[in-house]
Parts: sequence; structure tokens; C-alpha cells
Amino acid sequence: MKYRIASIKGDGIGPEIVTQAQKVLNAVGVKYGHEFEFVELLMGGCSIDKYGIPLTDETIDEARKSDAVLMGSIGGDTNTSPWYKLEPGKRPEAGLLGIRKALNLFANLRPAYLYPELKEACPLKEEVASKGFDMMMMRELTGGLYFGERYTKEINGVLTAVDTLSYNEDEIRRIAVKGFDIAMKRRKKLTLIDKANVLDSSRLWRKVTEEVAADYPEVEYGVMLVDNCAMQLVKDPAQFDVVLTENMFGDILSDEASMITGSIGMLPSASLNETRFGLYEPSGGSAPDIAGKNIANPIATILSAAMMLRYSFDLDKEADAIEDAVKKVLKEGFRTGDIALEGQNSVKCDEMGDLIAERI
Ligand code: NAD
Repeated sequence: MKYRIASIKGDGIGPEIVTQAQKVLNAVGVKYGHEFEFVELLMGGCSIDKYGIPLTDETIDEARKSDAVLMGSIGGDTNTSPWYKLEPGKRPEAGLLGIRKALNLFANLRPAYLYPELKEACPLKEEVASKGFDMMMMRELTGGLYFGERYTKEINGVLTAVDTLSYNEDEIRRIAVKGFDIAMKRRKKLTLIDKANVLDSSRLWRKVTEEVAADYPEVEYGVMLVDNCAMQLVKDPAQFDVVLTENMFGDILSDEASMITGSIGMLPSASLNETRFGLYEPSGGSAPDIAGKNIANPIATILSAAMMLRYSFDLDKEADAIEDAVKKVLKEGFRTGDIALEGQNSVKCDEMGDLIAERI
């Protein structure tokens, strides 16, 4: 098959890490008989430098015409870069929000997986870390508290601020369906995280998710209150498979889940819309402190490419090949600087890409 991939390398380490992911995808293409065409597009700071704005209509149109988007990261040093002297709507990050909105990417996926070889980086107790964990944090991205009506005004002489948390059943159903579809590709367990003992919106999430669960009898479905989930993530993360939740709870819990894996350079992510289309990117930023030095860890981006194969192209075997190649290089002891232990040799960004591509 032939696939057209919009490649948004972006700023900082973006070009270095996306190039490695393209290398690995090309190796997959050779081995499994696929062709990946990369259409290079600008977004973020590099787009500001060329066009004066972080996201052009052309980038949006070309992304729409593609089968998926593979992204690096955008933005620069927020203290020193001239991009941050611009008004907020013209800064690099506005490009990211703009493309998510334009492509209607409402479901954010962030796997949190503890590689046995990187256990030392896990901040949890040894007896918890030794059990390992492998979960998929699934966060609603376009509704809820961050998108509701908000205002601050004086009421009876007292300054009062209001933020509105609202969801309708369609917004919940479409992500719940995605969540159960993803659970079917994994260990067939889904936990809905909410605050249904207090919030009406959470009670609607429970009602709708329960209805969707009825269509997936093979998936073990459960619910958990968000405060309990925050504790369980550090006490017994191995219990979770797919964790489904609304926007603000997901914002906080997905960072907690990332933290317990111990390394930002290892964490992929995906943002999906109603079709099979998705935008795939590492969870970290553009790391201006190490940009251009060929020392960034490309694994998060390479694993994002694996997610693209699995969730947008339905190429599970090929996605497994990438994930297995990553496990293999780690087992063989190769590390980039960020995940090397003291005294351990490290490889450069492009060498890590070569090592993984060779093991496909
Ligand atoms: P960051 O994630 O870029 O960097 C935090 C730390 O992690 C740095 O020490 C960096 O060197 C390290 N790091 C990140 N990715 C790494 C990798 N692949 N390999 C090795 N080390 C890595 O976060 P920040 O410094 O807060 O932000 C820098 C810029 O990135 C800002 O402009 C911010 O707005 C932007 N940003 C962009 C995205 C995105 O494009 N989706 C996400 C987050 C931050």
C-alpha cells in the first residue's frame, strides 16, 4: 500500500527526531512492501520565519489531504526567542492549537509503558516498578472546562470568576467508541475516570460510556473516581489498560502517568478525529537546550510513527515490528544521553535511528 504522510518537523530538535522516524518507516516499507510518501510542511517558529504566521492554510490543506500527520515539536526558548515577543495568537504554539482544531482532533492518546531496562528511571518504589505497567491514557481534547464559557466579574461587590464544564452526549460517545476500539487492540480493559459523586457532567460520561460498553462485551469495563485514580497511578499502575477521561482530568493524569515512566524522550502520543486520521507526535517539546547537537532521543517520535501505523493505517504487525525493534536496542544496552545511566556510553540521535531501522 501507499500512504501519504504530512511531515511537520517543526523547530528545535523536531527535524532531527522526525528524520529518524522517517528512516524507520522507510525500513518498515522495504520489509513489508509499503510506500510512505512524506510531504514536508512548515508549522510553528519556522513558519513564522517564512510566512509571518505559525500555521498557513496550505499546511492545513496539505495535512487534510494526507492519510496522517507525523510531527516533531514546535516552539523555541520562551525567554530568548523573538517568536515570543509576538502577540499570543501569532506565537508557535498557536499553530499547534490551530491544527488540532482545524483537523477536529478530539481524542488524545498517551501510552505510559515502563521498559524493564529503564526501571531505574521510574520514581516509584522498587516493588511497584518491578511489576511494570503498560497503559493508554485517553483524554478528551476539545470539550469540557477548557472550552466552556468563562468570565470574571463583580457580583454584589465581590470579584467572581466562573469557568463552565459542559459536555454533550455526542462528544462523550465518539471518544468512548474510540476508547473501546483501542481496548480491543490491547488487553481489553477500559476504566472510565470521573467525579460522578459530585459532577453532573461526570454522571453523563458514566451513562453514555456504559451504553457504549454494552456493544463491547469482551472488554472489561470499570469506573474510578479521579482522586482515587491519582493515588492508584502511583500505588498500582499495573492495574490499568485503557484509561478514558475528560479534558481537565486527562491533562493532569496523563502528566502523572508520563512522570512515572521516568523519561520524556520515550513517550509518544496521538491525537485522533472521527475518521482514521490522526496527528502523531512525541509528548516532549522542541528542547531548544539540545537542538542541533544530534543528541536528542528519537524514540518517542519513532514510537509515535508506530502508533500511526496501528491506529491510522491498521498495520498492527508493522507497528509491533517498530516497538519490538525499540525493545531490542534497549535490551542490547544502547541509550541516548537522556536515558543513559552514569558511566554508561550513549549513542547519537541518528545512530539510535539507524540501530532501530536495522532491527526492523
Ligand atoms: P521540552 O520538552 O522541550 O524540554 C524539557 C526537557 O526535556 C529539556 O531538558 C529537554 O532537553 C528534554 N527533552 C525533551 N525532549 C527530549 C528528547 N527527545 N530527547 C532528550 N531530551 C529531551 O519542554 P520545554 O523546555 O518546557 O519547552 C521547550 C519548547 O517546546 C517551548 O517553546 C514549548 O512551548 C515547546 N513545546 C512544544 C510542544 C509541542 O510541539 N507539542 C510540547 C511541549 C512544549
